[in-house]
Amino acid sequence: MDIEDLLGRFVRRLNRTAIDFPEPGGGTSLPAGEKDKRYLLYLHIPYCIALCPFCSFHRVLFERDSSKHYFECLRHEIELASELGYSFDQLYVGGGTPTVLPDELVTTINAVRAAHPIGDISVETNPDHLQPAALQVLRDAGVSRLSVGVQSFDDDLLKAMRRFDNYGSGADIADRLVSVRGILDTINVDMIFNLPQQSETSLRRDLDILIDRVAADQVSFYPLMTSDSTKAQMSRTMGSFDMSRQKHYYELIAERMLSAGYFRSSAWCFSRKAGMFDEYIVDREEYVGLGSGAFSYLQGALYANTFSINGYVQMLESGIVSATTRREMSEQDQKRYYLLMRLFGGTLDKQHAEARFGGNFQRKLWPELTLLKTIGAVKDSGDSLRLTERGHYLWVILMREFFSETNTLRDQMRHAIDRQSPVVQGS
Ligand code: SF4
Repeated sequence: MDIEDLLGRFVRRLNRTAIDFPEPGGGTSLPAGEKDKRYLLYLHIPYCIALCPFCSFHRVLFERDSSKHYFECLRHEIELASELGYSFDQLYVGGGTPTVLPDELVTTINAVRAAHPIGDISVETNPDHLQPAALQVLRDAGVSRLSVGVQSFDDDLLKAMRRFDNYGSGADIADRLVSVRGILDTINVDMIFNLPQQSETSLRRDLDILIDRVAADQVSFYPLMTSDSTKAQMSRTMGSFDMSRQKHYYELIAERMLSAGYFRSSAWCFSRKAGMFDEYIVDREEYVGLGSGAFSYLQGALYANTFSINGYVQMLESGIVSATTRREMSEQDQKRYYLLMRLFGGTLDKQHAEARFGGNFQRKLWPELTLLKTIGAVKDSGDSLRLTERGHYLWVILMREFFSETNTLRDQMRHAIDRQSPVVQGS
């Protein structure tokens, strides 16, 4: 077994012992917010106009009336979280496609801003919603960052992903990205590397477009991630996986992005300037997730909200927040989770870690830290631990495993819907 397999196993085990829910859908409630503490608020909008075969997120087919009512319920859940004592200073709206109903989205953002001292606001979208007027409305609502799911500019790959007909050709998408440049502080482009059928030439062309034509502010290059439920469907629609290319493709991406003047915000996110990025869990240890299918991490426990849209609506109509399942993490797993997330951002501040864990962070994690130093993944620079070039790629593997396991957890939560109240689910 090589070191990549070993580290992958470590993360899968951490996920299984630390964040896997033994009985999804059991019923729970969020704890009260801590006084004077500011939290990141994540809102989940699960609607999409079409369901991509590779996607493991919680998403359902868009239907106007039910989506509108969902937004109303979400605003009610934000009020309930405020009554629980939570104060939010950062907002991340993910999906699904949060911009499916732009008016509802803006009304919801305004409701959060009216009640909380919100600074940064980040919203996910798809290429078909990239219109200058629409982005100006989002900017006026305080949105500073938009994350656009592009995945690739290669038309053959877009067709294989069933995105070509819904979101346009690679050339159209590039044109739209150029047309909205500069309207918001940051436009992030989400890409996937090592897709089945993706050649090195195709990847190099994607990099040329991102850097030379689009001049993207930020690019998140995700390795292909699947769940148990999407693996078979992906193989059928897109072809088989070839993991042997992954390292070479990542090195190619990193070399090109870094030499074009980008820096790493995380192991797979490259930015031109500082700001938010998709993996908000790197800088914000605790966060509150509202909406169907959202997760929260609070006071050492992970919470998952119901994945049933009908169940969600019923809970909110009864005046209760939608968290249905809770998993307490052991102190040791909290430290491992902290290590994983901080180093995903590239650096772990030792003083902060010791203060956070009562002075025994390095002592309790010495086997993990010794291994990481021995294999050359981490460099100790006195005050902090930093990922080396080798460590960045190893962290891509670790986080791929982490998110793949989270996707499997989503599968479990979807299956748990059958054991809950009557449901209409689009996926
Ligand atoms: S990839 Fe994006 S657009 Fe496609 S189904 Fe998933 S969330 Fe929806």
